[in-house]
Amino acid sequence: AGAGKSTIARSLARKLGFTYIDTGAMYRAVALWALRVGVDLDDLHRLEQLAKEAHIEFKAGETTVLLNGEDVTAEIREPRVSEAASKVSMAPGVRRAMRKEQRRIGTAQSVVMEGRDIGTVVFPDAQVKVFLDADPQVRAVRRAAENGGDVGQIAREIAERDHRDRTRGEA
Ligand code: C5P
Repeated sequence: AGAGKSTIARSLARKLGFTYIDTGAMYRAVALWALRVGVDLDDLHRLEQLAKEAHIEFKAGETTVLLNGEDVTAEIREPRVSEAASKVSMAPGVRRAMRKEQRRIGTAQSVVMEGRDIGTVVFPDAQVKVFLDADPQVRAVRRAAENGGDVGQIAREIAERDHRDRTRGEA
């Protein structure tokens, strides 16, 4: 989180004339839907159903995210959605649904696809893979500059989310 994935991936896609795909936004959209309808984030079956039914689209130079036709671009960046996305993405069924959609998109066209499991799981045979990391403190300062908030608090949230993302059983 906050390593600069989106900034670099978007800029690279522009230079290459490829489509930029933000897979984190897809998990965020599913998480937002789950929060809205009050699905228990431990209910793997319901989460998988939502992920399969979610209609996620990227519009306007890939910066606008639509969930079931509604513009959720700003709302999916809220901290509560970041946290829920990290939980929702632990569900194997959710990952299966997202992976299928990501492969469909990436097979049909040239893409720069950004996300934690793209090089390892979604496209293990990708022509180019980039692993990006940055000092936790620097990442927290960047996020605070972007969204406001206390740097110490943000650093703790990022550390918690990274730990969950790195130690989950899948992907
Ligand atoms: O990249 P971003 O911070 O927007 O992703 C939000 C959350 O979605 C991550 O914390 C991670 O849990 C999940 N995610 C994932 N696999 C991806 C992209 C995002 O599990 N390919």
